[in-house]
Amino acid sequence: MKREHEPEASQAQDVELDQGCILCGGALSLRVVGSSAATYCRSCRWISRPHLHHHHDGVQLFHPSRMVA
Ligand SMILES: [Zn+2]
Repeated sequence: MKREHEPEASQAQDVELDQGCILCGGALSLRVVGSSAATYCRSCRWISRPHLHHHHDGVQLFHPSRMVA
C-alpha cells in the first residue's frame, strides 16, 4: 500500500531546512524540481545540488561531496 503521492514534475517545492547547511549550520533553502534539488544558504551563500533519495517515510538529501568553492 502506497500512501505517498508523487511530486509533480512541473511543480517546484521550496522548503526551509533549519540548520541544514553543512558548512555554517544556517537555515538552508531547498528547492525541489522534479527529481533534482538545489539548496541555497542565505548565511554563507553556499549553493549545492544534493541528490534526492526517496524513502518510504520521506525524502533524504545526499550531498555528493563537501565541495567548498
Ligand atoms: Zn551556510
